[in-house]
Amino acid sequence: MHAWSDLIRDIPDFPKPGILFKDITPVLADARGFADAVAAMAEPWRKQPLHAVVGVEARGFILGAALARELGVGFVPVRKPGKLPGHTLSLDYGLEYGRDRLEIHADALPQAAPVIVVDDVLATGGTLKAAIQLVEQQGARVVGAAVLVELAFLAARATWRHPAPLVATLSY
Ligand code: AMP
Repeated sequence: MHAWSDLIRDIPDFPKPGILFKDITPVLADARGFADAVAAMAEPWRKQPLHAVVGVEARGFILGAALARELGVGFVPVRKPGKLPGHTLSLDYGLEYGRDRLEIHADALPQAAPVIVVDDVLATGGTLKAAIQLVEQQGARVVGAAVLVELAFLAARATWRHPAPLVATLSY
């Protein structure tokens, strides 16, 4: 029997040379591992009043939806461009190479609804920060950010300016 953290697999040079990819799919495939990982992610938020968990496409959907069920709240997706069918708000943000865009349904959350924003891995932090900015543009209130894995050597935490806590279940 493994601890769930032992199931995270390192894949070197994916998606490009020099990147050590943290693959969480073996955690998801293991009934006990998945349940334990989600329970560990949920722990800091159990007493926090929340309206929903916001998950970032794509692996943030898997963990975010499971976390929402664990916490007994709704789930709201933040998606890549052109995927959401209703009226959307969008945000362009800079990546290491190039730019990307995220979208949310304009009516996804009530004004000032407390939410946490979730992704699987925190690398540079660009994606999570953009998702938070988009959720706040939408009018909801971000009371926290949660990732399963923080790549601490990339020092995203050092550039964290948001007043809400950034919680990583595991840090490398
Ligand atoms: P960033 O915006 O740099 O924090 O990148 C975060 C996004 O890219 C997350 O959605 C992660 O799923 C993914 N990602 C970045 N680096 C890695 C990595 N080394 N292993 C796994 N996923 C990664």
